[in-house]
Amino acid sequence: MTRRRWIAEHWDEATATLTGAQAEHMTRVLRAQPGMEADVVAGGHVFHAQVVAVSGGEVRFNLIAELDADPALPITLVMAVYKFDHMEWAIEKATELGVAAIAPVISRRTEKHLAAAAQKRAERWRRIAHEAAQQSRRCDVPLVYDPEPLAARVRAASEAARIVLAEQERTTTLRNALEEAVAAAGTEMPALEIAIGPEGGWAPEEEALFDANGWRAASLGPRILRAETAAIAALAVAASYLE
Ligand code: SAH
Repeated sequence: MTRRRWIAEHWDEATATLTGAQAEHMTRVLRAQPGMEADVVAGGHVFHAQVVAVSGGEVRFNLIAELDADPALPITLVMAVYKFDHMEWAIEKATELGVAAIAPVISRRTEKHLAAAAQKRAERWRRIAHEAAQQSRRCDVPLVYDPEPLAARVRAASEAARIVLAEQERTTTLRNALEEAVAAAGTEMPALEIAIGPEGGWAPEEEALFDANGWRAASLGPRILRAETAAIAALAVAASYLE
């Protein structure tokens, strides 16, 4: 039987603590008692652990032994902010597929009211990533950056191989771009950034900006995908190639 996995908010070398909704669920629904065993994620590592104390809205564990864990895909998904319900769905699915980080960006065609509300929304995006990570038994939670203007992310210095998905691109497929990135990285697993535009797509000056900053344009095929479909397809292609 697979034990349920909990992602701890606080930890040190020998113990880990759950607080908030997770602690509440463990005490109220699962009636956690000292001695109960569980798998606990602390600082990106998974441990076989045992409850030692339940009190004041907290559940504390002793970490007994570290278990093998699968690393995240070394991919940062750069997502232009668009319709929040679709975007949240994309964040959940990207987390299940193993994304390491999500960078929301404000692009030219991000609707103004969404751009204005994005900063406040980041906490909710982090919560969604946390829940999806736990549900899919990941050993880490994807980092969700604060939203920033697209140009800042595109121009920022980065060690990663950078790919921008664009439906106008006809020659280079995502797979071609991944092959190039892997060849250029030698024996290392390359870090990747993959950018996906909003519902209206990238504006021409944004495409030029990506190009001028060394991002490789890539295609996911001849059909136009919704942004959330593009995110899932891109991560699935990358996972099948890299894992
Ligand atoms: N401008 C488009 C829709 C953009 S789709 C329209 O005609 O309405 C939203 C984003 O998904 C795009 O900016 C791109 O990043 C990605 N995308 C969608 N289909 C794609 C494809 N076939 N290849 C590469 N990227 C794609």
